[in-house]
Amino acid sequence: MNTLKQFINGQFIDALSGRQLEVEDPFEGKIIGLAPDGDASDADAALRAAAAAQPSWAKKSAPERASYLRAMAAQIRANRVELAQTLAREQAKVMPLAQVEIDFTADYFEYYAGWARIYEGEIIQSDRPNENIFLFRKPIGVVAGICPWNFPFFVMARKVAPSLLAGCTAVIKPSSLTPLTTFAFAGMVEATGLPAGALNFVSGRGSTLGDALVRHELTDMVSLTGSVEAGRDIIRASADRITKVSLELGGKAPAIVFKDADIDLAVKAIVDSRVIFGGQVCNCAERAYVHASVFDEFVEKISLAMSKVSYGSPFAEPAPQMSSLIDSRQLDKVEAMVERAIAEGAEVVTGGCRAEGSGYKYEPTILAGCTQQSEIVQSEVFGPVLPILPFTDYDEAIALANDSRYGLTSSVFSSNVSLVMQALKDLRFGETYVNREHFEGMQGFHAGWRQSGIGGADGKHGLMEYLQSQVAYVQY
Ligand code: NAD
Repeated sequence: MNTLKQFINGQFIDALSGRQLEVEDPFEGKIIGLAPDGDASDADAALRAAAAAQPSWAKKSAPERASYLRAMAAQIRANRVELAQTLAREQAKVMPLAQVEIDFTADYFEYYAGWARIYEGEIIQSDRPNENIFLFRKPIGVVAGICPWNFPFFVMARKVAPSLLAGCTAVIKPSSLTPLTTFAFAGMVEATGLPAGALNFVSGRGSTLGDALVRHELTDMVSLTGSVEAGRDIIRASADRITKVSLELGGKAPAIVFKDADIDLAVKAIVDSRVIFGGQVCNCAERAYVHASVFDEFVEKISLAMSKVSYGSPFAEPAPQMSSLIDSRQLDKVEAMVERAIAEGAEVVTGGCRAEGSGYKYEPTILAGCTQQSEIVQSEVFGPVLPILPFTDYDEAIALANDSRYGLTSSVFSSNVSLVMQALKDLRFGETYVNREHFEGMQGFHAGWRQSGIGGADGKHGLMEYLQSQVAYVQY
């Protein structure tokens, strides 16, 4: 049994709250760890450590700060298999995908280390002859990074790497469902010799520890990846102090298949995106719109592909495509949403029920006959369930895709370049994938429109989230 301690000011200590949470292996249904159930006193200790460390951390040169990111990447690479095993066990992520997440995270630290000598301020033309206007970029200060359970290791890096590189210090809270890999990383951070307090890890629930981190007077910025509901709570809790928030929230990505699309490519890309990690991914295809002339062919092919999706133990060899959902609550939610869709007239083309055996598994499911206004088409399922609706012309396809309170990702399948460029102009989403699966690159900018968030992560713009400007008017 793995028993975790808070990592505050460079030391592993017992939770000041004195309470613990159980961590479950979702596939085996066994308790595999105990993590601190931290509260406001833990938040206070961690934020004080981060605030005390921030001025001297920011005084180091950016290349020196980057050297610690490279050391973190090296630690991850040296422990890549054990980390992937821990990740696979704590969230039932199939081993190959867990390994991709770990390796991608090491690359991510190196990628942001590379920004040390690249990010810059500006010199702006003045109205006055003997004046220079300088725009400096300064770290925001102390960051509270609050992470979800679906990509706990990578999303942690999305907050740690740009904030440290920018000269901020941070307190990271993983989801109480998946703290194990994050705290294994805390041990590796200790091994890099990072100055005490620059990076702290605390475990606990969102409603207690998370809320205390957001409301604390020492928190200069909150970076949350999570649900729309948590985003709303955090905006409310940050209102009193006008704390900066960066929110990456849920999605309901449409995939549009036009009549001239390569149907086999579209089927493969949409299935891969819908079943990766059991469909529990913010950017994956959650609804498909298919031109009426190819609708029957598409439904037949995608149903066959979905019915062949393999699922089982995350450690099975050869690896299945997916495993258990994260917990019984998530399985109950997916099941209830499909039942309500059926009650409203949806037709189950394949799947439509819980799967037998270990874990909280749900069968890969295709639904037809859903209406645009139904819950299954409007709300995030976060499971391997895909409703498919027909359309007859371009304007209808775009209107249906845009008709959503979410605006994270979308995809378009077509061999007509003009049509694709027109769709890129008309779609109202932060990210669009053309003729490929839903998966972003670290050099892009992952940012949702509408209720999918405020701000974003990755690339140059992700780094800018952690920097604030200072303009100086210097007359000589
Ligand atoms: P969640 O909102 O339940 O929890 C996310 C984190 O927020 C957890 O650490 C939780 O403890 C904390 N939290 C919850 N309420 C809080 C509060 N009031 N104050 C402070 N902290 C609070 O989300 P989840 O179930 O862990 O993750 C799934 C959700 O995350 C999905 O909606 C998914 O789409 C979204 N997500 C989005 C992205 C993205 O990049 N946009 C990436 C991954 C996941």
